[in-house]
Amino acid sequence: MLTDRFGRIHRSLRISVTDRCNLRCTYCMPEHTPDYQPRSEILTFEEIVRFVKIAVSLGVDDVRLTGGEPLVRSQLNLLVQKLNEIDGLRKISLTTNGVLLQDQLAELFAAGLRHVNVSLDALDEESFKGATRRGGLDKVVGGIDAAQRAGMVVKVNSIAMRGLTDHQIVAFGEFTRRTGIPVRFIEFMPLDSDGNWNTSAVLSGTEIVEMFSSQIRPLVPIERNGSSPSADYRFDDGIGTVGVIASVSKPFCDSCDRFRLTADGQLRNCLFGEDSGDVRALLRGNASDESISQMIQSAVATKKRGHGTDDLTFLRPSRPMHAIGG
Ligand code: SAM
Ligand code: SF4
Repeated sequence: MLTDRFGRIHRSLRISVTDRCNLRCTYCMPEHTPDYQPRSEILTFEEIVRFVKIAVSLGVDDVRLTGGEPLVRSQLNLLVQKLNEIDGLRKISLTTNGVLLQDQLAELFAAGLRHVNVSLDALDEESFKGATRRGGLDKVVGGIDAAQRAGMVVKVNSIAMRGLTDHQIVAFGEFTRRTGIPVRFIEFMPLDSDGNWNTSAVLSGTEIVEMFSSQIRPLVPIERNGSSPSADYRFDDGIGTVGVIASVSKPFCDSCDRFRLTADGQLRNCLFGEDSGDVRALLRGNASDESISQMIQSAVATKKRGHGTDDLTFLRPSRPMHAIGG
């Protein structure tokens, strides 16, 4: 098992399949196209599958595909299908901005995908454009609807930012009550490419819960589920679920069970750390499974207790969110 110095068992792996994206969210990417990683440096599906098999042999049972935007990676369904064939891998999920979801849904479903988180920050076109610097709200909503109709487990994730989220409370309250899809708000973290993050831009989980309770109806806490970072609530009439992921105001590092593989094959034991192992060099250098396994174990073993964003000596990681994999 992948246990770190603080007794945390790591079962959850996030894999970025690309640093490219078809949106330019203000809290993630720069306005103009950044220098993307050269394609030759991005792991192939075969390399990813080999890595996942080794990780599963060490106790990983949950893989989330992310990016950049994972659905801009050609034929992602083929990767899902290969991962789905790995014994011991209990869950495969996808985090997407949803723009291409409807187009690819049938293939992804056929490949075995059943869990999808769609990121959506606003339910009116103008605010959506303000947040993403692009259009496409209709497509995202269409993708969510199609995934739900196909029988997938769908969640919506929304950034928690002052000036944006506070104007979307009523719309998201109506959305979760009408569709039954949980909406979870993730506090804005210091991982934006533009370096504009500051604490006053973060709308805290506590404020969000208060806003829903006063603007819609009271929220009642739901018992917390294992290592999930989300504190979830249901409206007091049982209709509609809201969650808050308070990564900045109430970090959940004590129960963190994840590590990451970037699109260019670098291990990261924390979103806020730096690269902690060059897996691509091993994969492309004819290394044995044993040496890759050792690299994973040592990345987990050196994980820090917390991400330290509340520490005055905290330094922003050199990679922004889209180049790590959120
Ligand atoms: N493109 C896909 C998407 O948007 O769902 C997957 C990658 S994106 C980096 C994953 C998640 O990270 C999204 O839900 C996004 O809102 C979140 N995210 C990006 N930048 C963030 C930041 N600075 N703070 C908090 N969450 C952020
Ligand atoms: Fe792209 Fe997702 Fe980042 Fe938005 S949050 S720019 S959709 S990677």
